Amino acid sequence: MIPDLPPPTLRLRIDEAALASNWHTLDQMSGSAKAGAAVKADGYGLGVERVIPVLRKAGAEDFFVAHWCEVPAVLAHIPAAMLSVLHGPLTAKDARYARETGVRPVINSLHQARLWLESGGGRCDLMVDSGINRLGIATHEIADPLIARLEIDTLMSHLASADEDSPMNARQLAAFRQVVQHLPARRTSLANSAGIALGEDYAFGLTRPGLALYGGIPRPELEGVIRQVAFPQAAVLQLRNLNAGDSVGYNATFTASEPMRVAVVSLGYADGFLRCRGPDSALLHEGRELPILGKVSMDMIVVDCANAPDLRDGDWLNVAQHLPDSSRDSGLSQYELLTLTGRRFR
Ligand SMILES: *Cc1c(COP(=O)(O)O)cnc(C)c1O
Repeated sequence: MIPDLPPPTLRLRIDEAALASNWHTLDQMSGSAKAGAAVKADGYGLGVERVIPVLRKAGAEDFFVAHWCEVPAVLAHIPAAMLSVLHGPLTAKDARYARETGVRPVINSLHQARLWLESGGGRCDLMVDSGINRLGIATHEIADPLIARLEIDTLMSHLASADEDSPMNARQLAAFRQVVQHLPARRTSLANSAGIALGEDYAFGLTRPGLALYGGIPRPELEGVIRQVAFPQAAVLQLRNLNAGDSVGYNATFTASEPMRVAVVSLGYADGFLRCRGPDSALLHEGRELPILGKVSMDMIVVDCANAPDLRDGDWLNVAQHLPDSSRDSGLSQYELLTLTGRRFR
């Protein structure tokens, strides 16, 4: 028999109270609309097994994933009628899987509408493209007889530039209002996290926040009300003493100019801490900054311990993850910072 695993050297603390609070905030900002929850990409990297029970308990009843392969992990926590699959059915097998599980497909094209109806159909969601030109039927296709045969639960569209003060927002809103007038559906839905911050005009019957649930701040209106949820930590594997002239890491991009004490930390780009997050950045120990030295490796980072002379093997360092700041510093989007979170975190 394989024994229990020893303790991990990477962990992700999830502040469940902050996650619940973020959902309540977004639900309240949605006015008379109800907030759902996008939990695609394993709950934006935080783990669906951790986030769904918290969101469900807070009051969320509508969950969204992108792929069919994401369905089983989610159905371990909620009934199928609460789940929609955004990519919709690409094959007859997808359509059959939707019917057998009871999960709603989001229909994104006339081809998908036909597949769904040919498989026997039933309740589905419908995505209409109002300008993002990604997934969704075109507005001129809503009069197609195939669409008239759909049993539409949630009629939705998706905003392209809700995180900016762009005239595109009002254009998409107007286009979606037109669609809503012409297509019967149980309810309607337009806003993602940033869309919720645009105001109640954008909320319709159901909102679909993702990023802001997990601590992302796509618009200034959400600053101070959305709380950080994910707190990554990595353990020190070893402490070393460098002499003047010693270099650190691949390609020796850092060279010590005087003797110094450094720590080797169990975090690398395979864990989602990409190389672009290394330069001019630091890990933290009890609030003290430990600057990153040299290149980030696949499984390790080396930091300067001058600010933490008492550091020992096995001590935990915090990875600063205030998403707007980390995004600005690294050039990665807040979405990328979250969804890059590696699978070695416990
Ligand atoms: C991912 C996604 C969302 C959530 O968007 P956030 O910007 O993360 O709030 C909502 N709707 C659709 C269709 C999506 O693909």
